Amino acid sequence: MKATTETQVCNKCGLKKPLSEFYFRKDQQKYKRECKECTKKKQAVYREANREKVRACGKAWRDANPEKVRAKSKAWREANPERWRANGLAWKAANLEKVRADNKAWREANRERWQAKGKAWRKANTEKHRAAAKTWAKNNPKKIRANSAKRRAAKLQATPAWADLKKIQEIYLNCPPGYHIDHVFPLNSPIMCGLHVESNLQYLPAKENISKGNRVSLDEQLNG
Ligand SMILES: [Zn+2]
Repeated sequence: MKATTETQVCNKCGLKKPLSEFYFRKDQQKYKRECKECTKKKQAVYREANREKVRACGKAWRDANPEKVRAKSKAWREANPERWRANGLAWKAANLEKVRADNKAWREANRERWQAKGKAWRKANTEKHRAAAKTWAKNNPKKIRANSAKRRAAKLQATPAWADLKKIQEIYLNCPPGYHIDHVFPLNSPIMCGLHVESNLQYLPAKENISKGNRVSLDEQLNG
């Protein structure tokens, strides 16, 4: 590099500028007569007038130099971590549907890895996880009820293969306020075990369900 104290007059804008403000042409071993600013302006005008061409050219170069592209992106990310993060977040916000679908597809294709990841995160963030679970439970009481009924039914082996799990979930989620979901035939009756199936579910006013317990008469169970 030559000393930066040297100056040159740009043949475009006519301004006197230090040599560092001019691009050095390796092929001719000398500085361009036009300053960087004027060159950039010219390039911008050209790009604007030849958008498609420039885009195709850029794509062709990227396709031909995948490793350079990767290295360049990596260097940029490392030099601009904040901007990279912000860009990523902005893109996600603008493509929420796609992000959600991609995440779901990934989880379904990598079930075990996803579960392991979740487990590791919960282990490392016990307090956060506890708080999040508490908030979720508070906001989703019906789902909690549906899940615990599901678990209880599974324990009692009361969910047959033909049960419509989606329908059951719906019944739980649509439970009107002040009502409980009741198994018409109780799951753990000593006389006749009820099933965790949609046709064995009914809404009962909360009090009635509590007083009912599992004391359904044999007659009720057979003819109910
Ligand atoms: Zn100039």
